[in-house]
Amino acid sequence: MDSIAVLGATGSIGKSALKVIALHPERFKISALSGYSRIELLSELVMRYKPDTAVVAPNSAEQLKNLLKTTPSSPAVLEGEQGLCEIVSRQQTDTVIAGISGAAGLASTMAAIKAGKKVLIANKEPLVMLGEAVGDAAQRSGAQILPVDSEHNAIFQCLPRRAQQLCVSGNLSGSRVLNNQFGIRRITLTASGGPFLNTPLSELSNVSPDQAAAHPKWSMGRKISIDSATLMNKGLEIIEACVLFGIDPADIDVVIHPQSVVHCLVEYKDGSILAQMGNPDMRTPITAALGFPDRLISGTRRLDICDIGQLTFLQPDGDRYPCLSLARRAAEAGGTAPAALNAANEEAVTAFCEGRIRFTGIYPLVDQTMQRVESQQSTSLESVLSVDRKTREVARSLLDCKVSVSSTRAVNL
Ligand code: NAD
Ligand code: MG
Repeated sequence: MDSIAVLGATGSIGKSALKVIALHPERFKISALSGYSRIELLSELVMRYKPDTAVVAPNSAEQLKNLLKTTPSSPAVLEGEQGLCEIVSRQQTDTVIAGISGAAGLASTMAAIKAGKKVLIANKEPLVMLGEAVGDAAQRSGAQILPVDSEHNAIFQCLPRRAQQLCVSGNLSGSRVLNNQFGIRRITLTASGGPFLNTPLSELSNVSPDQAAAHPKWSMGRKISIDSATLMNKGLEIIEACVLFGIDPADIDVVIHPQSVVHCLVEYKDGSILAQMGNPDMRTPITAALGFPDRLISGTRRLDICDIGQLTFLQPDGDRYPCLSLARRAAEAGGTAPAALNAANEEAVTAFCEGRIRFTGIYPLVDQTMQRVESQQSTSLESVLSVDRKTREVARSLLDCKVSVSSTRAVNL
């Protein structure tokens, strides 16, 4: 029996993971759940899945305990980052599903890796921020890393078994082994293009956060949905792929594929291209990672290729998606540049959601912030956290001075 801690259980990844786990009671058991703000939903999940421990935001334990007052055998309730690090590190946890959104998942993801657990990583931001340090930590502790992000899980599925094993143990990171030993020439990440693929460029400055978060193909949390509209998500995924697979950013292409059926293409030097296909439903990559190396049922609808009819692929338009080139630059610079990119983007997306900047203000805010933050080559935890903090300060001060000029409307920077 695999005992699982689901971090971010109230979110999109967390809920999909719980559905998959519930299909296999003979194999998996939920021992801990975490949620941050939707405490009522978390209490429902606790009643349904009966973990022995729940983790909530600081100062929210009482609220959850009150909601569970009448529940027989209520779980222990812990709070904050310390609570998260405790449930991922404790002996009875075998597997951790890292489903928190943003940099907030960094400490718990790293704690799970350092504790030598099997870690299913959906939460891409810690990978982007820490880079090769993640693989180094897994090599030291014996942790197993399984990519859940759909494109990265798809790449993983298209690798030979020996390369998969190296990826799981963190040994591909920084290695170029996929090119040199396994004959891989290029990797292509597919992107749906988001809700504004065909919106006239002149209208983009007036789109609302709700429109930007309305992803045409995937049902996901707000931050990643907005990142999909700017294509920053794909930029972060280039960096994530470099970290997980030891591939150079120059060997990673991005194509727009509006049907979201092909999740990646792995090109080998003999001219073969392997692709992974499936309906856009995160239960498929979650199941592939949970069961690896076994194949399990996921509860998803079968893909009918005749129903789909046509698959199309297009080059991304640089004017529509300028964030993609920012991410490429950060990937090539390495060191703490990806952490700065991530922090600037998180601040910009928050400002957009709060109506402080326009959708078209996200790119200039990230760009101007990046120009003001010096990157370092070291990606020690201290330098990454320090760059994260400094970058957010720079982004906020840029926002304060620009927004104060136009106090009544969201600005375009
Ligand atoms: P979401 O917003 O739906 O859920 C986020 C979860 O994290 C919630 O449970 C929330 O309570 C928790 N959380 C938020 N802030 C927190 C904090 N400060 N401390 C502790 N917990 C906190 O997000 P999501 O769409 O499920 O995405 C989760 C992660 O997975 C992201 O990093 C995203 O990029 C990645 N991902 C998601 C999808 C998807 O289909 N949703 C696909 C690929 C990758
Ligand atoms: Mg993805």
